[in-house]
Amino acid sequence: MKVIIIGGDAAGMSAASKLKRVQKDCDITIYEKGSYLSYAACGLPYFVTSEAIEKDSLIQRTKEEFEQAGLRPILLHEVMQVEPESKKVVVKDLFSGNEFEDTYDKLLIATGARPIIPNFPGVKLDGVLTLKTVDDGVLMKEKLSDPTIKNVTIVGGGYIGIEVAENLAQAGKKVRIIEMAERLLMPFDPEIAKFAQYELASLGVGIHVNEKLDSIIGNTKVEKVVTDKGTYDTDLVVLALGVKSATDFLKDSGIQLADNGAVIIDREMRTNIADIYSAGDCAEVYNFIKEQNSYIALATTANKCGRIAGENLAGNHIKFVGTLGSAALKVGSIELARTGLSEKDAQDLGLDYKSVLVEARNIPHYFPDSSPIWFKLIYENGTKRILGAQGAGKQGVVLRMDVFASAIYNKMSTSELGMLDLCYAPPFSTVWDAIHIAANAAK
Ligand SMILES: Cc1cc2nc3c(=O)[nH]c(=O)nc-3n(C[C@H](O)[C@H](O)[C@H](O)COP(=O)(O)OP(=O)(O)OC[C@H]3O[C@@H](n4cnc5c(N)ncnc54)[C@H](O)[C@@H]3O)c2cc1C
Repeated sequence: MKVIIIGGDAAGMSAASKLKRVQKDCDITIYEKGSYLSYAACGLPYFVTSEAIEKDSLIQRTKEEFEQAGLRPILLHEVMQVEPESKKVVVKDLFSGNEFEDTYDKLLIATGARPIIPNFPGVKLDGVLTLKTVDDGVLMKEKLSDPTIKNVTIVGGGYIGIEVAENLAQAGKKVRIIEMAERLLMPFDPEIAKFAQYELASLGVGIHVNEKLDSIIGNTKVEKVVTDKGTYDTDLVVLALGVKSATDFLKDSGIQLADNGAVIIDREMRTNIADIYSAGDCAEVYNFIKEQNSYIALATTANKCGRIAGENLAGNHIKFVGTLGSAALKVGSIELARTGLSEKDAQDLGLDYKSVLVEARNIPHYFPDSSPIWFKLIYENGTKRILGAQGAGKQGVVLRMDVFASAIYNKMSTSELGMLDLCYAPPFSTVWDAIHIAANAAK
């Protein structure tokens, strides 16, 4: 069997590696338009300001290592078109500019997402950056090493914008975030998101919410940003306005896309066309609680869905259990994490739900490292089935969120979670852990 995989990062290479393990004689070609395979995009916000993190350490496995495993990755080759009727793809060699055709028995689309770059005046000026690829990271690191770069404007206050802001502020840059929504970090409810905002402010980050970027000004290099509320001097602009599935090349292929451009797939990663699969940030993903597809671009999901795609390309029929949108981030000395539905999600779905917010401690108050920890739970009214959880605090939030994720996955009620036999010794937790306290506060 001849398989072509388009895209050589988390989803594509997870699929390729799994498929090769389950079907050793499978002929697998991976076309990747960039210069790297299997790179840790999640590490980029840390890489750009760190002297300790080398570019090469972001690469999980090299082309040579994949080749030794029997795969055929081809870099700097972009797939321009998919022709399902003839089972062909049109590929462009980005080095020579030549185009050629290749055929497949089965195809996986794992092209990920690209940063959204609206057409602001000045968007093409030198010093307007995005952070997606290793090359983006290298360019940003090089710019930041210039001591004349002092003021940085970040447009967008989501996960990536906040992580970049945190790292740049800690590296001594004067950072400003421009966010058009009423607050930062919209996947979190305001009671928890506010901790990120406080912490960024304490790092000296200027936060401008309810403010919209109009244009970027400069001669050849960026000099100022203009919003609907003011004009600010800046030496660098980082656009972190979210991502969009990289599926433009599929427009006329007959492969079904959602309104936002994501490939529509089922729980086995199959598209509407036989023998064509898709996984990762280019595709929708089944949402465990909503019991329908969502668009959630996360590495955790891309790796799992890629792995399942690899199994199913070999003829299996494994179904993805579904995403909970579990995600975490660090802001200064604060951890934030979420899983399942936010209160806004529950409202949008018209669910009969309740919520509770508690303040507890990570470890007993008599230890010097004891600190407050906040958890919010969203649960079904009546059954008390847990639908979502979010938390913030200095220590112990993220690993506790994994317990909430397990509880949601097992459809536990707050009453069951409130009596779950969790580990206890004073250096690690309180006798009633913050998890119990949150669950038992739910009425
Ligand atoms: C700065 C940053 C921080 C992040 N932090 C986190 C985090 O902390 N936690 C988390 O869960 N997620 C995080 N993510 C998201 C995570 O990186 C993505 O969800 C994950 O990389 C998706 O993997 P993928 O394989 O679907 O897509 P991608 O990683 O986007 O890979 C797709 C590949 O396909 C290639 N490609 C695209 N089109 C074509 C084509 N036509 N022909 C050939 N090749 C093509 C691209 O060059 C790319 O290499 C972060 C992302 C960024 C950018």
